[in-house]
Amino acid sequence: MLGLQFLVFIDRKAAHCSSRSVARGEQMRLMRAGRAARDAAALVVVGIVLFATFEWFNFYETFGAFLREHEFIQLDELLTAILTLGLLGFIFGYRRLRDLQDEVAHRSRAERDVSWIAAHDPLTRLPNRVGLKQEIERLRGSDKAKLPHMAMVIDVQGFRYINDIYGNETSDEILVNIADRLREVFVGCFLFRLGGDQFYAAQEGSQTKDWEKLARRAIKQISVPILVNERHYEVSAYIGMARYPDDAANIKYLLRCALSAVSSAKREHSSEPKWFDPAIDEATAKYAELDKQLRAALKAGDVRPYYQPMIDLTSGRIVGFEALARWRRPDGTFVPPSEFITLAEETGMIGELSDVLFRQACLDAAKWPRTIRLSFNVSPAQFSNRSFGRKMLETLAETGLSPQQLEVELTESMFVKDVQLVSAMLEELRGAGVHVAIDDFGTGYSSLSQLSRLRFDKLKIDRSFVSSFLDDARQAMIIRAMIGLGRGLGMKTIAEGIEETSQAETLQLLGCHQGQGFLFSRAVPAEQASAMLQMTWPTRPEDNTAVS
Ligand code: C2E
Ligand code: CA
Ligand code: CA
Repeated sequence: MLGLQFLVFIDRKAAHCSSRSVARGEQMRLMRAGRAARDAAALVVVGIVLFATFEWFNFYETFGAFLREHEFIQLDELLTAILTLGLLGFIFGYRRLRDLQDEVAHRSRAERDVSWIAAHDPLTRLPNRVGLKQEIERLRGSDKAKLPHMAMVIDVQGFRYINDIYGNETSDEILVNIADRLREVFVGCFLFRLGGDQFYAAQEGSQTKDWEKLARRAIKQISVPILVNERHYEVSAYIGMARYPDDAANIKYLLRCALSAVSSAKREHSSEPKWFDPAIDEATAKYAELDKQLRAALKAGDVRPYYQPMIDLTSGRIVGFEALARWRRPDGTFVPPSEFITLAEETGMIGELSDVLFRQACLDAAKWPRTIRLSFNVSPAQFSNRSFGRKMLETLAETGLSPQQLEVELTESMFVKDVQLVSAMLEELRGAGVHVAIDDFGTGYSSLSQLSRLRFDKLKIDRSFVSSFLDDARQAMIIRAMIGLGRGLGMKTIAEGIEETSQAETLQLLGCHQGQGFLFSRAVPAEQASAMLQMTWPTRPEDNTAVS
């Protein structure tokens, strides 16, 4: 049933794809038919004239008499030979004509195949962007262009990760599987693969509610685990919808509106399909502008690592610095990392951004004493690249920073997808001497289970606990438990977001090893960080003078 529907779809598509060449062929056929009619008329006239002339001169009798009288020159044999040759020539010509017809049919079939290939994605066999463009052109040329239309863009999430980690073969199979599931959902609709992990579905004259229902079904179907080579893979999808004429001024604009809607669904991590919203479209334009600016800033060297000190709570001395990305605009204002790191993660620029930041951070840290550690944040998106660990070690070697001086900070979201693989990659780093810290501890839903499965050198207690534990007995209990947990598992503990002396003092009394926060210093440029190395901060109740 599905196969049949698909074939019908392909045939329809193939016919549309070659519509321009079909029109040209029809023109040629008409021209040839005209020429044949003219030829036939001329031959009839010539035939009548010849017939009349032969009759007038009594041709056969005269010619017969001539042959009989001149038997000695064998004219009749000559004529028989010419007649036989003519007949054979006719048969030969007829057969060549048949060959020519076969050749023409073969060529036009090949031409149709080429147009089909150009308009389809060979992997999923769905029409591609070229196919979509042709379909839009065809629609625009018909009365149907005035009918209401619904459209949606389906953006598959987690696919790039699978591609990076498990390779092309697996991800291709997953894509084919997703395309099949979508075909089952969008029966009677147009379905296209826009490229990468994006699909586009459209339908003439559907109801808003029905279209939403289809979108929800698509999300549900895509998130059912996919079995490839005895292993289950999970992906999800964001969906952005748009309708004509409500949202888009014309059919062509529908895709742009649906793309804008899916971008906002992605930004909001919406598990529900989202309709196009003109107000959000403005936000999308801003987002695209920010993306452009970030690329330019990265090239111009306007994004640099700043350094926030990590303090030993017993001695009050600096034991390391956390590198935090800072984007300084030419007018001196800063773009918050929460904005541009998220953007880079979504657009896939995070790898490039991190490479630049990490190289610079290594160069800066190589100038510090060997006991001072550089702590570097690694985003989950970046960790999905197989060569991530090897690349980090290469940069260390190139910049002359010892792996023992480096610590990577990971958040729990990193381990949700594939603990085994992530832990293998971490072991590669650990094997070289790099320390691994778990960041924002306590904010994710899998903190404890991660601790039981993976080895960390440091546990970073999240700012949210530190800011309130002095006034909130329950938060204080949690912090106490976290510190105990760290000790029990042989990890160092560090509390982030310390803003008051009393917080630092209490944390020190509770046995927390290190602290970080505005109380000590905000993140500062490399030169200031180096100048800070000699400073000591009071962190115990009895010390109440800052020594610098
Ligand atoms: P994070 O890794 O949890 O970094 C700590 C954040 O807390 C930093 O914000 C820091 O400036 C802020 N902070 C430090 N002490 C205090 C304090 O006492 N009070 C308060 N209220 N805040 C404090 P920032 O620099 O805005 O960075 C935000 C997040 O952006 C970081 O959270 C990290 O997840 C991400 N980020 C920053 N730089 C990078 C980077 O180079 N790579 C990656 N992958 N992520 C980064
Ligand atoms: Ca961090
Ligand atoms: Ca943190």
